[in-house]
Amino acid sequence: MLDSKFRENLSKRLISVVGEEHVMTQETDRVLNAHDAWPLSEAKLRAGELLPLADIVVFPATSKEVSEILRIANELEVPVTPIGGGAGTCGGTLAIYGGIQLDLKRMCKIYDIDHQSMTIRVQAGVVGIDLEEEVNRHGYTLGHTPTSLRASNIGGFIATRSGGSMSSLYGKIEDLTLGLEVVLPNGSIVECKSVPRHSVGPDLRQLFIGCEGTLGVITEATLRLFLIPEVRRFRSFSFPDVHSGLEAIRNIFRIEIKPSIVRLYDPEDAAMSFSMQFEFGDGHCVLLLGFDGDITHVELDEKEAVKICLEQGGIDLGEGPSKRWWEHRYDMYYPSRLTTSGYAIGDTIDIVATYDKLENVYHAMKEAMEANEVIVMSHFSHMYQNGGSIYMIFFSSQPDAETAWAVYKKVWDDGVSACLREGGTMSHQHGVGLSRSTYTEDELGSAFQVLQDIKSVLDPKGIMNPGKLGLGVRE
Ligand SMILES: Cc1cc2nc3c(=O)[nH]c(=O)nc-3n(C[C@H](O)[C@H](O)[C@H](O)COP(=O)(O)OP(=O)(O)OC[C@H]3O[C@@H](n4cnc5c(N)ncnc54)[C@H](O)[C@@H]3O)c2cc1C
Repeated sequence: MLDSKFRENLSKRLISVVGEEHVMTQETDRVLNAHDAWPLSEAKLRAGELLPLADIVVFPATSKEVSEILRIANELEVPVTPIGGGAGTCGGTLAIYGGIQLDLKRMCKIYDIDHQSMTIRVQAGVVGIDLEEEVNRHGYTLGHTPTSLRASNIGGFIATRSGGSMSSLYGKIEDLTLGLEVVLPNGSIVECKSVPRHSVGPDLRQLFIGCEGTLGVITEATLRLFLIPEVRRFRSFSFPDVHSGLEAIRNIFRIEIKPSIVRLYDPEDAAMSFSMQFEFGDGHCVLLLGFDGDITHVELDEKEAVKICLEQGGIDLGEGPSKRWWEHRYDMYYPSRLTTSGYAIGDTIDIVATYDKLENVYHAMKEAMEANEVIVMSHFSHMYQNGGSIYMIFFSSQPDAETAWAVYKKVWDDGVSACLREGGTMSHQHGVGLSRSTYTEDELGSAFQVLQDIKSVLDPKGIMNPGKLGLGVRE
């Protein structure tokens, strides 16, 4: 916490940048604009525990205002924690060392579409669904449809390397971002030009995509656009086991068919998600497929994919489960799936690995996590030519807070260490934030020092989102 005199002076300087109505210091405002959707902090809130808070919340409207704010924070060595939509799942927006919460929601301008290049420029605070609906009116889609589309904003997507449910076809946000404007911790405004490809040294855009606010603030971006597909088709199969389902997926991508939706539910998740509405073998997995594009290509791709699924022992379930999932894909989160009674804990470890390791990672993580007597269910989604991700979901109810937080930590420690041991990577799309911060060094190995060196050059005073991504952890 800043002392009250210091806070008052800082407030005055911030008010001179953004105006009085855009600087908040009341506790209620600081609580409302502080936390994200990290399941542990949600559970702690339910249990009546207070979360760390920033001293001041500031709402800039332009890149120039962000620049001025960072210049002041840098001069006074005050921590700055950006918040976009606040739907991150890793505690990345928690201002654990106090200071300024930089709320980007006022930065919500959508600039003109460049129809010739099929791109659009936006400010970082534009909410995903607002942008998708705007480009839909012109016959385009962003191709980026994470389940948090209605809550998260473009800056948050980019800052966490987010992945939409159709990333197998359209790519993740790092593939969809052509240009970027970033404000560095010293207040300099840096532009990474919008170009399809280049050969002028390393791609600096990728340095900031996924930085989670630790290297600067993303203020504007240029995104790719796609034509709204002529048709979207759905298909579903059951498989006797994870292995045959995964083999079907691998063989589909091997011949360069790119379904838009690919989701393989393990027996536990399939039973939980589909057994009430659809009939399939007890203990079977369920595979959902979706195909986007013009009718000719979609029909060809669907035909080949069906052939591969049948060859791998799949049983055709028609379009039902896939279509149902698509139509209800947001429902399960509102209200939250977690119970509110007792000390309920739960979370998702979204890992990624190449095909040669994927199945081993799945079995090793499942075994390690289940050893803590929690329920584990999983699905493979966001699949690509060389591998894909697994959502390892766990939950349980514990008798008291102390046991609940300890079990939660143990499941994470055991799950991540099994993932790394088997050659997986600990996050595909949710980022690192606070929840995975302690594992970053193990994950990156000798490359972690490179990340630390970059941090110390760009942010020598360590003001930007300290404690996240394993960077700037203080005593
Ligand atoms: C119900 C639900 C469903 C979800 N589904 C998906 C999904 O399908 N795919 C997926 O990828 N994720 C998903 N998520 C996770 C989350 O929504 C994403 O990680 C999203 O990208 C976070 O964006 P946000 O705007 O909410 O970011 P925030 O939570 O506000 O911030 C996330 C991190 O980025 C930093 N940050 C935010 N804005 C900026 C900026 N402009 N410049 C620099 N740093 C910044 C913050 O400091 C923080 O560290 C889901 C979350 C929920 C709650």
